[in-house]
Parts: sequence; structure tokens; C-alpha cells
Amino acid sequence: MQGKIIKGIAGFYYVHTASDDSVYECKAKGAFRNMKIKPLVGDDVEFDITDAVNHNGNVIDILPRRNELIRPAVANIDQAMIVFASVSPEPNLNLLTRFMINMDRSGINTVICFNKTDQADSDRIEELCDVFENSGCKIVASSVVKNEGIEELKSILHGKTTALAGPSGVGKSSILNAVFPDANSQTGDISVKINRGKHTTRHSEIFALPGNTYIMDTPGFTSLECDGMEAEDLRFYFNEFGDYEGRCRFNGCVHVNEPDCAVKEAVDKGVINSTRYDIYSVSYTHLRAHETLRHL
Ligand code: ZN
Repeated sequence: MQGKIIKGIAGFYYVHTASDDSVYECKAKGAFRNMKIKPLVGDDVEFDITDAVNHNGNVIDILPRRNELIRPAVANIDQAMIVFASVSPEPNLNLLTRFMINMDRSGINTVICFNKTDQADSDRIEELCDVFENSGCKIVASSVVKNEGIEELKSILHGKTTALAGPSGVGKSSILNAVFPDANSQTGDISVKINRGKHTTRHSEIFALPGNTYIMDTPGFTSLECDGMEAEDLRFYFNEFGDYEGRCRFNGCVHVNEPDCAVKEAVDKGVINSTRYDIYSVSYTHLRAHETLRHL
């Protein structure tokens, strides 16, 4: 049998099979135990059923991982999606950017979703989308109330494993309910799970949805930092700057205080979004201050 580990607790691995939408409680057996590979949530595994009635089994092999996140410890994430409300609560664009950078560092693309567009005026939504237009991320404006962007979200999420992030109150669970109205009873309480996620999540957990679709809630992201990142390297995570790299007066220009900076000129001309640049400059200063503290 093949399935995906959706939860791991105290030596047990809960393996979901998309073919019959069942969950098996498994122990780890077999060769990989001696190879010091620890099964992770998100791992695609081979397993033997030892008790078909009680849904017990043994994991016997872990299929090759496409990628692996450290925090949270999960494997095989296809993409990340971060959801913010368009107005209330006000989207935290610095936090959004830190999230994108952290995912980017693990080789994972982020989809940005500005939800509850029915509560914002269209200028505001356009303004928000403009900030990230050239960031390299896909952007979706959505509203469950207006049924806007729901089909697009469906095509983005369907058949993929997505790390989902966003503060509470932005409508993550209503999006999922709108996108997957036919989620079965076993997975149907996903909204409850997502909402209480931040209180109970000592371990990672993935939720199975119809059509080989998996969602992993990403708690704790509100305190997200770009750990271990050098301020010098931050600029490489801003897609917008790519065209200007090497065109500044100084080699290794970090585009903050240097004169004759091609990036700052592009900001002045309005070619690079100024809000996006401000996020960069604040983040750079923040990282630099931390470095200085470390070296004292
Ligand atoms: Zn520069």
C-alpha cells in the first residue's frame, strides 16, 4: 500500500491513503529504521496492513523526498500559501515578505492570497496586489461572499500539498470550505482544527482533502524571523532587484545608503514598487542591527 504520513505522535505514524480516503495507524518497520531516516509528516510511504479492521499497519519504506522543511518539520511541500484579509485585520506586509523569503530559502514558491475583497474598496486591493506584482509570487484576490477567486484557488490547491499560513480572522477555513465543499466528515472538521492549531500544535499535521490534496497549517509564523540570514544576502530574495544587480556604482551595493544605486533610481522612477522597496529597507536595517548585536 502507498500513502502519506499526515500526523506522527509518540512513535505512531498516521498514514492517509488517497485511493480509499482512509487513515492507518502505523509503526515504523523495515530497513529505513537502520538508516537513521526519521519519517516526517508529508512523507509518501509504502506500508503493510497488519489489521484491516482496526486500520493498523507498518511503514516499510519512505519514498524519495522532494524537499524538507526544518520548521515545521515536514516533507514534500509543493507550495506555500499565505492568506491575509484585504483590510481587517490589516495585512502585515513585512511578515508576508519574511514568510515568502523563508519559503524561498527552502525552494518553495509562495502564493499570496488577499481575502475578503468584499470588505475593501477596489483601489486598496489593486494597491496591495501592485506591491507584490513582480515579486515572483502568484497573487489571488478572493472573497467567499462574492465567490471571487475561489475557482482560481481551487486550481492552485487541487492535487497539491500546500503549507497554509495567515493570522486568525482572515478567513482561511472559509476559503477551504468554499474550495472543497465536498470534504468528507473525517476531514470536514478542518476549520476547527485550523482555528485551534496555534494552541495545540506541538507536532505537525497535514489535513487530507479530496483529490489527493493536502493542507498543512503553519502555526507560529507570526513570530517568524529570517534566522541565520545575512543582511547582505537579503537583496537576492527580492525578485524586483534582479535586473539591476551589478548596475549600481558600487560592487556589492545593498541598495540602502549607497549613492548612484540603480535599484533606488528604479524606485524613484516608479519601476520598482516603493512599498515593496520600503519593506526591503526596513528588513535590511533589522537584520543588520541583529548582526551588530551578535558581533558585540
Ligand atoms: Zn544599489
